[in-house]
This record gives sequence, structure tokens and C-alpha cells, in this order.
Amino acid sequence: MASFSYRILRKKGIASNASITVSAERGVVVRAPFWMPKGIIENFIQEKSLWIEKHLERLSLKKITKHYFEGEKHLYFGKEYSLSIVTTRTPGRSKISLLEDTIQVELYEGLPKEKHPEKIEEALLYWYLEKGIETITEKVNYYSQEIGVEYQKINLKKVSSIWGSCSPTNCLSFNRKLVMAPHEIVDYVVIHEVAHMVHRNHGSGFWNLVKSFDPQYKYHRRWLKLNHHLLSI
Ligand SMILES: [Zn+2]
Repeated sequence: MASFSYRILRKKGIASNASITVSAERGVVVRAPFWMPKGIIENFIQEKSLWIEKHLERLSLKKITKHYFEGEKHLYFGKEYSLSIVTTRTPGRSKISLLEDTIQVELYEGLPKEKHPEKIEEALLYWYLEKGIETITEKVNYYSQEIGVEYQKINLKKVSSIWGSCSPTNCLSFNRKLVMAPHEIVDYVVIHEVAHMVHRNHGSGFWNLVKSFDPQYKYHRRWLKLNHHLLSI
């Protein structure tokens, strides 16, 4: 996927130059005089791309910080669960189970209280990674069979500004944060990257292929742009 997308708004009146704003609510918005040719606006965006990326990065850093206490809300494939902490007599790795409305973390009873958040975070991150690989692999298998392509391998990464990527050798990478997004959003990102094994660009052939598996893809792209700050691990 491109590192960012933008909207162009035309200014009426006698304005003589273009300007760019970056916000969490509206994404990248470029305001340009009504008479300015599109090519000039695109050059202007190109010139400012480093600046734009820096601001987008800063916005994604402004994420919701988690503290890992009892009852805290955590997302799992688009649904909110509260954290429930129980203690066990067995030492070793903390176990995570998904119950109806809670994510239950089992901690060793001998663990000092002040160590709890750190242990919970560690266990939760590991669990997200495990579930993420499982679910995304299933989805990639499904869509690559449907489209008739073969991938090399799948990686889950903690990358900040990219949801997914597809290398020239068909190695697929996905952002671990997708484990928090609703399934239809994860499907869109998977379809997008699998479709790149057929079309290595964002031309109309590519988007038609994406659309044939996800008719709502425009809505899903927009959802990611507007909600990425909610998906904080
Ligand atoms: Zn792409």
C-alpha cells in the first residue's frame, strides 16, 4: 500500500498557493486553488511527502496507552473484552483464555503485584501474535487459493505505518495490530496484499480484483485511516 493517501479540496477565491494539513480525524488534506493543475498539486505533495510522513508517524505514536489492570478494555478482532486477572499455583508462562466477554490472564500467585502489568503485557502480546498468525494465515490461504496465486511465507510485524506488504518474491507481511481490527478490515488488507501477487501496482486491474472479493473496500480503507490510533498494542 502507498505510505499515505490524501484528499484534495479546491479553494475558491483568489488564493494563490496550496497547503497541507494532517490530522487523526481527517487524514491528509491538501487545499489548493481551483485553477491549479493536478500535476502541480501532485508535485507539491511529493515535495512535502517527508513532512507528511513525519506527521502521520507522530499521530500513530499518539496511541492509547494500556496499563493492564483488571477490567481494562482490550480489542480482539473488533470486539471489546475486559481484562480479567486470576492467579494460579503453577509457575511458568501466564496463560490467556478468551471467554465470552473477557480476556482472562492466569498469573502465578507468587508473582509480586507490581510485576503484574509487565507480565500481562508480555503474555498478551505473545497471544496476539499467535492468534494473529493463525487467523491471517487462514485468510491468506483462502484468498490466494481463490485468486490462484502462491505465496512464499507470512510475517507478522510490528510496523508503524504499513498495514501489509507483498515483496517481489511473494513474501507477505502484516501489521500485528490487525488482530485488533474487525474481521472485514483484516480481510480487506489480506485481499489487498494477495492481489498484489497478480498486479504489482495500484492500477485499475488491481482495484477491480480487490473489489471482486471486497465490494466495500473503499469503506474499509477509510476505516483503517480513521481508526488506526484505536488499535494500540
Ligand atoms: Zn498496495
